[in-house]
Amino acid sequence: MGGTFDPIHHGHLVAASEAAADLDLDEVVFVPTGRPAFKLDPGVTPAEHRYLMTVIATASNPRFTVSRVDIDRPGPTYTVDTLRDLRAARPDADLFFITGADALAQILTWKDVHELWEMAHFVAVTRPGHTLSVEGLPSHAVSVLEVPALAISSTDCRARAHAGEPVWYLVPDGVVQYIAKHRLYRGQDV
Ligand code: ATP
Ligand code: MG
Repeated sequence: MGGTFDPIHHGHLVAASEAAADLDLDEVVFVPTGRPAFKLDPGVTPAEHRYLMTVIATASNPRFTVSRVDIDRPGPTYTVDTLRDLRAARPDADLFFITGADALAQILTWKDVHELWEMAHFVAVTRPGHTLSVEGLPSHAVSVLEVPALAISSTDCRARAHAGEPVWYLVPDGVVQYIAKHRLYRGQDV
């Protein structure tokens, strides 16, 4: 599951957990983006903070791991490179890419999209406020999974932290504390 994870929240975690249960996955690898291709603004929190929050949020789940492939690769992050690197690290694995409805809507604009369909099976999860449409996408490579609706976004979490409003219960407790400790999202417009 790729994402900016700025910060990681319970919407991400529930989507991952539901996909793991539904598809009987051995592992869910969270892959924080380096420089996300669609978010090139300097407002994105430094990768190490986003990586550590993702580690904190996933540490207690034995099936959840975090990969640094996108963070350690120079340049903008493209999913085709993510999948190539994950494949190289796990040559025998069946790869599934978990994505929310909003991200799926953009997928046809992603780099080397036709290669993507051969590299992984895409699991499109429902997300409140976004219509999930698989029109125009190859049916052998994409499946839809309805997950409990959590109307949480990182954008809203950042805005709350910026305004001094609570993010308790929207993100894991350790992430609440990490945000406070490092005073993330305080000084910038979100
Ligand atoms: P931002 O508001 O900064 O874009 P975000 O909440 O959308 O943050 P991302 O890191 O952009 O989080 O999302 C990573 C992936 O998780 C995307 O595929 C996105 O669609 C999915 N996702 C995020 N929030 C939810 C949610 N509440 N329910 C289901 N899927 C989600
Ligand atoms: Mg997003």
